[in-house]
Amino acid sequence: MTAIGLLIAAVAAVGNLGSVSGFHLPHRISKYKTSSSHLAMATTTESSSNNDNILPNADHILFDVPVSNNGARCRIILYKKGISNEQVTILSPAHLGGLKSEEYKKLSPLGLMPCLTLPKHENPSQQYHGGLSSLVESDTIARYLLSKYATIGPSFQPENPKSNLIARMHDMYLTTIQGCLYKPASRLPLGDYPDRKSAIEAYRKNWNIIESFLTDDVAEDATYLCGKEVSLADATLFPSAVFATYMLPKFDSDLDHPEPPLPPKLTRWFDHLRINDSTFTKVYDEIMDTMVNSWENTNHRWDSIRGAGVRDTAPSTIFDLILNGSIPATIVRENEHILAFKDINPLAPAHILLIPKDRNGLTSLRQSTEEHIHILGQLLVMAGEIAKDTSLGFGDGARIVINDGKDGGQEVQHLHVHVLGGRQMESTFG
Ligand code: AMP
Repeated sequence: MTAIGLLIAAVAAVGNLGSVSGFHLPHRISKYKTSSSHLAMATTTESSSNNDNILPNADHILFDVPVSNNGARCRIILYKKGISNEQVTILSPAHLGGLKSEEYKKLSPLGLMPCLTLPKHENPSQQYHGGLSSLVESDTIARYLLSKYATIGPSFQPENPKSNLIARMHDMYLTTIQGCLYKPASRLPLGDYPDRKSAIEAYRKNWNIIESFLTDDVAEDATYLCGKEVSLADATLFPSAVFATYMLPKFDSDLDHPEPPLPPKLTRWFDHLRINDSTFTKVYDEIMDTMVNSWENTNHRWDSIRGAGVRDTAPSTIFDLILNGSIPATIVRENEHILAFKDINPLAPAHILLIPKDRNGLTSLRQSTEEHIHILGQLLVMAGEIAKDTSLGFGDGARIVINDGKDGGQEVQHLHVHVLGGRQMESTFG
Protein backbone atom coordinates (compact mmCIF):
# COMPACT_ATOMS: atom_id res chain seq x y z
CA MET A 1 0.00 0.00 0.00
CA THR A 2 1.31 3.50 -0.76
CA ALA A 3 1.92 6.05 1.97
CA ILE A 4 -1.17 7.96 0.87
CA GLY A 5 -3.10 4.71 0.98
CA LEU A 6 -1.86 4.13 4.48
CA LEU A 7 -2.96 7.60 5.44
CA ILE A 8 -6.41 7.03 4.03
CA ALA A 9 -6.62 3.72 5.86
CA ALA A 10 -5.55 5.40 9.06
CA VAL A 11 -8.05 8.21 8.66
CA ALA A 12 -10.78 5.66 7.95
CA ALA A 13 -9.76 3.74 11.05
CA VAL A 14 -9.81 6.76 13.31
CA GLY A 15 -13.18 7.78 11.95
CA ASN A 16 -14.66 4.77 13.73
CA LEU A 17 -13.15 5.60 17.04
CA GLY A 18 -14.79 7.83 19.56
CA SER A 19 -13.36 10.77 21.40
CA VAL A 20 -9.97 9.82 22.78
CA SER A 21 -9.26 12.73 25.05
CA GLY A 22 -10.79 15.58 26.89
CA PHE A 23 -10.35 17.85 23.91
CA HIS A 24 -13.75 18.83 22.58
CA LEU A 25 -12.84 20.13 19.20
CA PRO A 26 -14.60 19.80 15.88
CA HIS A 27 -11.73 18.26 13.92
CA ARG A 28 -8.74 16.26 14.96
CA ILE A 29 -6.25 18.03 12.75
CA SER A 30 -7.77 21.41 12.04
CA LYS A 31 -7.75 22.28 15.71
CA TYR A 32 -4.12 23.24 15.26
CA LYS A 33 -4.82 25.37 12.25
CA THR A 34 -7.75 27.16 13.85
CA SER A 35 -6.40 28.11 17.23
CA SER A 36 -8.90 30.97 17.21
CA SER A 37 -11.61 28.43 18.05
CA HIS A 38 -9.68 27.66 21.23
CA LEU A 39 -9.39 31.30 21.95
CA ALA A 40 -13.07 31.88 21.48
CA MET A 41 -13.64 29.28 24.18
CA ALA A 42 -11.00 30.68 26.45
CA THR A 43 -11.04 33.56 28.87
CA THR A 44 -7.92 35.64 29.28
CA THR A 45 -5.62 35.51 32.27
CA GLU A 46 -6.43 38.31 34.65
CA SER A 47 -3.04 39.92 34.91
CA SER A 48 -2.16 39.66 31.22
CA SER A 49 -0.35 42.86 30.43
CA ASN A 50 -0.41 42.62 26.64
CA ASN A 51 -3.75 42.36 24.92
CA ASP A 52 -2.13 41.51 21.58
CA ASN A 53 -1.01 38.18 22.95
CA ILE A 54 -3.84 36.89 25.00
CA LEU A 55 -3.44 33.31 26.10
CA PRO A 56 -6.29 30.99 27.00
CA ASN A 57 -6.98 30.52 30.66
CA ALA A 58 -5.69 26.96 30.95
CA ASP A 59 -3.35 25.51 33.59
CA HIS A 60 -0.79 24.94 30.86
CA ILE A 61 -0.34 25.82 27.23
CA LEU A 62 1.60 23.41 25.07
CA PHE A 63 3.09 25.28 22.13
CA ASP A 64 3.35 22.76 19.36
CA VAL A 65 2.27 21.99 15.78
CA PRO A 66 0.87 18.72 14.41
CA VAL A 67 3.95 17.70 12.42
CA SER A 68 6.32 18.26 15.35
CA ASN A 69 7.96 14.93 16.05
CA ASN A 70 9.08 15.64 19.59
CA GLY A 71 5.92 17.49 20.50
CA ALA A 72 3.97 14.45 19.37
CA ARG A 73 5.27 12.43 22.32
CA CYS A 74 3.70 15.01 24.65
CA ARG A 75 0.46 14.94 22.68
CA ILE A 76 0.31 11.15 22.93
CA ILE A 77 0.53 11.50 26.71
CA LEU A 78 -2.18 14.19 26.77
CA TYR A 79 -4.54 12.25 24.53
CA LYS A 80 -4.00 8.89 26.15
CA LYS A 81 -4.41 10.20 29.66
CA GLY A 82 -7.48 12.21 28.68
CA ILE A 83 -6.06 15.46 30.04
CA SER A 84 -8.61 18.19 29.43
CA ASN A 85 -8.39 21.36 27.39
CA GLU A 86 -8.67 23.38 30.59
CA GLN A 87 -5.66 21.56 31.98
CA VAL A 88 -3.52 21.75 28.84
CA THR A 89 -4.45 23.73 25.74
CA ILE A 90 -2.40 23.21 22.59
CA LEU A 91 -1.51 26.28 20.55
CA SER A 92 0.78 26.92 17.62
CA PRO A 93 3.78 29.20 18.29
CA ALA A 94 2.29 31.27 15.44
CA HIS A 95 -0.13 32.51 18.07
CA LEU A 96 2.74 34.49 19.61
CA GLY A 97 4.23 35.52 16.27
CA GLY A 98 6.15 32.35 15.42
CA LEU A 99 9.18 30.47 16.75
CA LYS A 100 11.57 33.38 16.22
CA SER A 101 9.36 36.09 17.68
CA GLU A 102 10.44 37.92 20.82
CA GLU A 103 7.20 36.97 22.54
CA TYR A 104 7.74 33.26 21.90
CA LYS A 105 11.41 33.43 22.86
CA LYS A 106 10.42 34.75 26.28
CA LEU A 107 8.96 31.27 26.77
CA SER A 108 11.36 29.21 24.70
CA PRO A 109 14.69 31.06 24.51
CA LEU A 110 16.04 28.97 21.63
CA GLY A 111 12.80 29.34 19.68
CA LEU A 112 12.11 25.61 19.77
CA MET A 113 9.02 23.44 20.04
CA PRO A 114 7.46 22.01 22.08
CA CYS A 115 7.20 24.42 24.97
CA LEU A 116 4.90 24.05 27.97
CA THR A 117 3.88 26.98 30.11
CA LEU A 118 3.76 26.44 33.86
CA PRO A 119 1.23 27.81 36.31
CA LYS A 120 2.53 30.71 38.38
CA HIS A 121 2.42 28.87 41.69
CA GLU A 122 4.93 26.34 40.37
CA ASN A 123 7.49 28.98 39.52
CA PRO A 124 6.60 32.21 41.30
CA SER A 125 9.86 33.99 40.55
CA GLN A 126 9.16 34.20 36.82
CA GLN A 127 6.38 36.31 35.44
CA TYR A 128 4.89 36.07 32.00
CA HIS A 129 1.39 36.60 30.74
CA GLY A 130 -0.45 36.25 33.98
CA GLY A 131 2.45 34.66 35.81
CA LEU A 132 3.19 31.77 33.46
CA SER A 133 6.70 30.56 32.85
CA SER A 134 7.67 27.50 30.85
CA LEU A 135 9.44 24.21 30.24
CA VAL A 136 11.17 23.28 27.00
CA GLU A 137 12.59 19.99 25.63
CA SER A 138 10.13 17.23 24.95
CA ASP A 139 11.44 14.59 27.36
CA THR A 140 11.38 17.12 30.20
CA ILE A 141 7.86 18.16 29.30
CA ALA A 142 6.73 14.54 28.91
CA ARG A 143 8.08 13.55 32.33
CA TYR A 144 6.59 16.66 33.92
CA LEU A 145 3.17 15.78 32.49
CA LEU A 146 3.51 12.18 33.67
CA SER A 147 4.28 13.28 37.19
CA LYS A 148 1.76 16.13 37.35
CA TYR A 149 -1.08 14.03 35.96
CA ALA A 150 0.03 10.76 37.54
CA THR A 151 -3.45 10.04 38.88
CA ILE A 152 -5.15 10.35 35.47
CA GLY A 153 -5.03 7.53 32.90
CA PRO A 154 -2.09 5.20 32.29
CA SER A 155 1.20 5.97 34.07
CA PHE A 156 3.43 5.48 30.97
CA GLN A 157 6.08 4.40 33.49
CA PRO A 158 6.00 0.63 33.81
CA GLU A 159 8.37 -1.23 36.10
CA ASN A 160 10.27 -2.34 33.01
CA PRO A 161 13.46 -0.22 32.73
CA LYS A 162 13.41 -0.80 28.99
CA SER A 163 11.04 2.13 28.59
CA ASN A 164 13.64 4.63 29.78
CA LEU A 165 16.36 2.87 27.80
CA ILE A 166 14.43 3.10 24.53
CA ALA A 167 13.37 6.71 25.13
CA ARG A 168 16.98 7.65 25.87
CA MET A 169 18.37 5.72 22.90
CA HIS A 170 15.85 7.49 20.72
CA ASP A 171 16.82 10.93 21.97
CA MET A 172 20.56 10.33 21.69
CA TYR A 173 20.88 8.23 18.54
CA LEU A 174 17.78 8.75 16.40
CA THR A 175 16.67 12.32 17.09
CA THR A 176 20.18 13.66 16.62
CA ILE A 177 20.38 12.46 13.00
CA GLN A 178 16.73 12.23 12.03
CA GLY A 179 17.05 15.54 10.17
CA CYS A 180 18.86 13.54 7.45
CA LEU A 181 15.38 12.44 6.34
CA TYR A 182 13.90 15.86 5.76
CA LYS A 183 16.24 18.82 6.24
CA PRO A 184 17.89 20.63 3.32
CA ALA A 185 21.64 20.04 3.05
CA SER A 186 22.51 23.48 4.37
CA ARG A 187 20.73 22.71 7.64
CA LEU A 188 21.78 19.11 8.17
CA PRO A 189 23.09 18.22 11.62
CA LEU A 190 25.30 15.33 10.49
CA GLY A 191 27.58 14.91 13.48
CA ASP A 192 30.16 12.29 12.58
CA TYR A 193 28.75 11.57 9.13
CA PRO A 194 30.19 13.08 5.94
CA ASP A 195 26.94 13.14 4.03
CA ARG A 196 23.21 12.42 4.12
CA LYS A 197 23.66 8.93 2.75
CA SER A 198 25.96 7.86 5.59
CA ALA A 199 23.67 9.48 8.13
CA ILE A 200 20.71 7.56 6.71
CA GLU A 201 22.68 4.31 6.98
CA ALA A 202 23.51 5.08 10.62
CA TYR A 203 19.88 6.01 11.25
CA ARG A 204 18.69 2.65 9.93
CA LYS A 205 21.32 0.87 12.01
CA ASN A 206 20.18 2.62 15.18
CA TRP A 207 16.60 1.47 14.61
CA ASN A 208 18.00 -2.07 14.42
CA ILE A 209 19.72 -1.61 17.75
CA ILE A 210 16.43 -0.59 19.34
CA GLU A 211 14.81 -3.62 17.67
CA SER A 212 17.32 -5.84 19.45
CA PHE A 213 15.90 -4.75 22.84
CA LEU A 214 12.42 -6.02 21.98
CA THR A 215 10.86 -9.36 22.80
CA ASP A 216 9.31 -11.47 20.05
CA ASP A 217 5.75 -11.01 21.29
CA VAL A 218 5.63 -7.27 20.53
CA ALA A 219 2.23 -6.34 19.06
CA GLU A 220 1.01 -9.86 19.71
CA ASP A 221 0.71 -10.80 23.39
CA ALA A 222 2.53 -7.62 24.33
CA THR A 223 0.77 -4.73 22.63
CA TYR A 224 3.38 -2.12 23.43
CA LEU A 225 7.18 -1.95 23.42
CA CYS A 226 7.53 -2.90 27.07
CA GLY A 227 4.59 -5.26 27.44
CA LYS A 228 0.87 -4.81 27.93
CA GLU A 229 1.20 -1.30 29.32
CA VAL A 230 1.79 1.78 27.20
CA SER A 231 5.04 3.49 28.15
CA LEU A 232 7.13 6.57 27.51
CA ALA A 233 9.07 4.44 25.00
CA ASP A 234 5.94 4.09 22.84
CA ALA A 235 5.18 7.81 23.04
CA THR A 236 8.78 8.72 22.22
CA LEU A 237 9.41 6.26 19.41
CA PHE A 238 6.09 6.31 17.58
CA PRO A 239 6.33 9.81 16.02
CA SER A 240 9.83 9.01 14.72
CA ALA A 241 8.47 5.79 13.27
CA VAL A 242 5.92 7.88 11.33
CA PHE A 243 8.79 9.86 9.77
CA ALA A 244 10.91 6.77 9.14
CA THR A 245 8.14 4.74 7.47
CA TYR A 246 7.16 7.65 5.27
CA MET A 247 10.57 9.01 4.37
CA LEU A 248 12.96 6.06 4.09
CA PRO A 249 11.12 4.44 1.15
CA LYS A 250 11.58 7.68 -0.80
CA PHE A 251 15.35 7.15 -0.72
CA ASP A 252 14.84 3.61 -2.04
CA SER A 253 12.52 4.57 -4.86
CA ASP A 254 14.98 3.45 -7.56
CA LEU A 255 15.57 0.01 -6.07
CA ASP A 256 13.84 -3.18 -7.22
CA HIS A 257 13.89 -4.55 -3.68
CA PRO A 258 13.69 -1.64 -1.26
CA GLU A 259 14.75 -2.21 2.33
CA PRO A 260 11.80 -2.17 4.76
CA PRO A 261 11.94 1.13 6.64
CA LEU A 262 11.74 -0.53 10.07
CA PRO A 263 12.91 -3.96 11.24
CA PRO A 264 10.21 -6.65 11.73
CA LYS A 265 9.23 -6.31 15.40
CA LEU A 266 9.11 -2.53 15.18
CA THR A 267 7.10 -2.76 11.96
CA ARG A 268 4.56 -4.98 13.72
CA TRP A 269 4.40 -2.66 16.71
CA PHE A 270 4.05 0.45 14.55
CA ASP A 271 1.32 -1.00 12.31
CA HIS A 272 -0.56 -2.31 15.30
CA LEU A 273 -0.66 1.03 17.13
CA ARG A 274 -1.24 3.05 13.96
CA ILE A 275 -4.34 1.02 13.13
CA ASN A 276 -5.72 -0.20 16.46
CA ASP A 277 -4.91 2.38 19.10
CA SER A 278 -6.98 5.54 18.68
CA THR A 279 -4.42 7.82 20.37
CA PHE A 280 -1.62 6.67 18.11
CA THR A 281 -3.86 6.77 15.05
CA LYS A 282 -4.70 10.36 15.87
CA VAL A 283 -1.05 11.41 16.15
CA TYR A 284 -0.18 9.50 12.98
CA ASP A 285 -2.95 11.41 11.27
CA GLU A 286 -1.69 14.77 12.59
CA ILE A 287 1.90 14.25 11.42
CA MET A 288 0.96 12.76 8.06
CA ASP A 289 -1.50 15.53 7.30
CA THR A 290 1.30 18.10 7.23
CA MET A 291 3.86 15.83 5.58
CA VAL A 292 1.58 14.83 2.74
CA ASN A 293 -0.58 17.88 2.23
CA SER A 294 1.88 20.63 2.99
CA TRP A 295 5.47 19.39 2.73
CA GLU A 296 4.84 17.07 -0.21
CA ASN A 297 1.91 18.34 -2.25
CA THR A 298 2.12 22.09 -1.65
CA ASN A 299 5.73 22.96 -0.86
CA HIS A 300 7.33 20.10 -2.82
CA ARG A 301 9.79 19.99 0.02
CA TRP A 302 11.04 16.49 -0.76
CA ASP A 303 12.04 17.11 -4.35
CA SER A 304 15.59 18.31 -3.64
CA ILE A 305 16.13 16.11 -0.60
CA ARG A 306 14.92 12.89 -2.16
CA GLY A 307 17.48 13.00 -4.97
CA ALA A 308 20.24 13.49 -2.45
CA GLY A 309 19.76 10.17 -0.75
CA VAL A 310 19.08 8.06 -3.85
CA ARG A 311 21.63 5.36 -4.46
CA ASP A 312 24.12 5.76 -7.33
CA THR A 313 23.10 3.38 -10.11
CA ALA A 314 25.38 4.67 -12.93
CA PRO A 315 27.66 2.04 -14.52
CA SER A 316 30.85 1.26 -12.66
CA THR A 317 34.21 2.43 -14.05
CA ILE A 318 37.85 1.40 -14.05
CA PHE A 319 38.25 3.29 -10.81
CA ASP A 320 35.91 0.80 -9.11
CA LEU A 321 38.34 -1.94 -10.13
CA ILE A 322 41.15 0.02 -8.49
CA LEU A 323 39.01 0.59 -5.39
CA ASN A 324 38.14 -3.08 -5.00
CA GLY A 325 41.71 -4.18 -5.72
CA SER A 326 40.95 -6.02 -8.99
CA ILE A 327 43.60 -4.03 -10.82
CA PRO A 328 46.74 -2.54 -9.30
CA ALA A 329 47.46 1.13 -8.80
CA THR A 330 50.25 3.02 -7.04
CA ILE A 331 48.39 4.43 -4.08
CA VAL A 332 50.08 7.49 -2.61
CA ARG A 333 47.56 8.58 -0.01
CA GLU A 334 44.28 7.31 1.39
CA ASN A 335 41.72 8.00 4.08
CA GLU A 336 38.22 6.77 4.87
CA HIS A 337 36.69 8.76 2.03
CA ILE A 338 39.39 9.37 -0.59
CA LEU A 339 41.90 7.36 -2.61
CA ALA A 340 44.87 9.07 -4.31
CA PHE A 341 47.00 7.16 -6.82
CA LYS A 342 49.46 7.78 -9.65
CA ASP A 343 47.95 8.38 -13.08
CA ILE A 344 48.84 5.46 -15.37
CA ASN A 345 49.53 7.83 -18.24
CA PRO A 346 51.22 10.82 -16.58
CA LEU A 347 51.15 14.16 -18.37
CA ALA A 348 53.80 15.66 -16.08
CA PRO A 349 56.65 14.30 -13.91
CA ALA A 350 54.21 14.20 -10.99
CA HIS A 351 50.60 13.30 -11.82
CA ILE A 352 48.24 12.09 -9.11
CA LEU A 353 44.51 11.38 -9.26
CA LEU A 354 42.21 11.75 -6.28
CA ILE A 355 38.81 10.07 -6.22
CA PRO A 356 36.00 9.83 -3.66
CA LYS A 357 35.79 6.18 -2.56
CA ASP A 358 32.01 6.37 -2.60
CA ARG A 359 31.02 8.00 -5.88
CA ASN A 360 27.56 8.77 -4.48
CA GLY A 361 26.22 10.22 -7.73
CA LEU A 362 29.39 12.16 -8.55
CA THR A 363 29.97 10.73 -12.00
CA SER A 364 31.19 14.22 -12.83
CA LEU A 365 31.47 17.54 -11.06
CA ARG A 366 28.36 18.77 -12.81
CA GLN A 367 26.34 16.20 -10.84
CA SER A 368 27.37 17.76 -7.56
CA THR A 369 24.80 19.24 -5.21
CA GLU A 370 24.90 20.88 -1.82
CA GLU A 371 24.98 17.34 -0.46
CA HIS A 372 28.52 16.87 -1.78
CA ILE A 373 30.09 19.95 -0.26
CA HIS A 374 31.85 17.96 2.44
CA ILE A 375 33.54 15.45 0.13
CA LEU A 376 34.43 18.13 -2.43
CA GLY A 377 36.10 20.14 0.29
CA GLN A 378 38.00 17.09 1.50
CA LEU A 379 39.20 16.32 -2.05
CA LEU A 380 40.58 19.82 -2.50
CA VAL A 381 42.28 19.84 0.90
CA MET A 382 44.01 16.56 0.09
CA ALA A 383 44.91 17.81 -3.42
CA GLY A 384 46.63 20.78 -1.78
CA GLU A 385 48.56 18.48 0.55
CA ILE A 386 49.69 16.26 -2.32
CA ALA A 387 50.74 19.30 -4.36
CA LYS A 388 53.21 20.18 -1.59
CA ASP A 389 54.66 16.67 -1.31
CA THR A 390 58.18 16.80 -2.72
CA SER A 391 58.59 13.05 -2.22
CA LEU A 392 56.02 12.60 -4.99
CA GLY A 393 58.05 14.83 -7.33
CA PHE A 394 56.20 18.09 -6.78
CA GLY A 395 58.18 21.32 -6.70
CA ASP A 396 57.13 24.89 -6.10
CA GLY A 397 53.49 24.69 -7.20
CA ALA A 398 51.15 22.45 -9.16
CA ARG A 399 48.17 22.55 -11.47
CA ILE A 400 44.97 21.09 -10.06
CA VAL A 401 42.39 20.17 -12.68
CA ILE A 402 38.95 18.60 -12.87
CA ASN A 403 37.81 17.62 -16.35
CA ASP A 404 34.05 17.93 -16.35
CA GLY A 405 31.96 16.14 -18.97
CA LYS A 406 32.54 15.51 -22.66
CA ASP A 407 33.70 19.00 -23.68
CA GLY A 408 35.98 19.07 -20.65
CA GLY A 409 37.69 15.92 -21.92
CA GLN A 410 36.50 13.70 -19.07
CA GLU A 411 36.92 10.03 -19.87
CA VAL A 412 36.27 8.20 -16.63
CA GLN A 413 32.79 8.74 -15.20
CA HIS A 414 33.82 8.91 -11.55
CA LEU A 415 34.75 12.36 -10.28
CA HIS A 416 38.52 12.73 -10.03
CA VAL A 417 40.93 15.54 -9.35
CA HIS A 418 44.23 15.68 -11.29
CA VAL A 419 47.23 17.12 -9.48
CA LEU A 420 50.04 17.81 -11.97
CA GLY A 421 53.52 19.15 -11.20
CA GLY A 422 57.25 18.58 -11.19
CA ARG A 423 57.77 21.09 -14.01
CA GLN A 424 56.67 24.55 -15.04
CA MET A 425 53.11 24.26 -16.42
CA GLU A 426 52.32 25.87 -19.74
CA SER A 427 50.35 29.09 -19.74
CA THR A 428 47.46 27.85 -21.91
CA PHE A 429 44.62 25.84 -20.45
CA GLY A 430 42.72 24.65 -23.52
P1 AMP B 1 39.93 12.17 -17.41
O1 AMP B 1 40.35 12.32 -18.80
O2 AMP B 1 39.91 13.50 -16.69
O3 AMP B 1 38.66 11.38 -17.25
O4 AMP B 1 41.08 11.39 -16.68
C1 AMP B 1 41.09 10.02 -16.52
C2 AMP B 1 42.48 9.69 -16.10
O5 AMP B 1 42.50 8.39 -15.55
C3 AMP B 1 43.48 9.70 -17.24
O6 AMP B 1 44.51 10.66 -16.97
C4 AMP B 1 44.00 8.27 -17.28
O7 AMP B 1 45.37 8.21 -17.62
C5 AMP B 1 43.74 7.82 -15.89
N1 AMP B 1 43.61 6.37 -15.77
C6 AMP B 1 42.83 5.55 -16.48
N2 AMP B 1 42.98 4.27 -16.06
C7 AMP B 1 43.86 4.29 -15.05
C8 AMP B 1 44.41 3.31 -14.20
N3 AMP B 1 44.10 2.00 -14.32
N4 AMP B 1 45.28 3.69 -13.24
C9 AMP B 1 45.61 4.98 -13.12
N5 AMP B 1 45.12 5.97 -13.89
C10 AMP B 1 44.24 5.63 -14.84
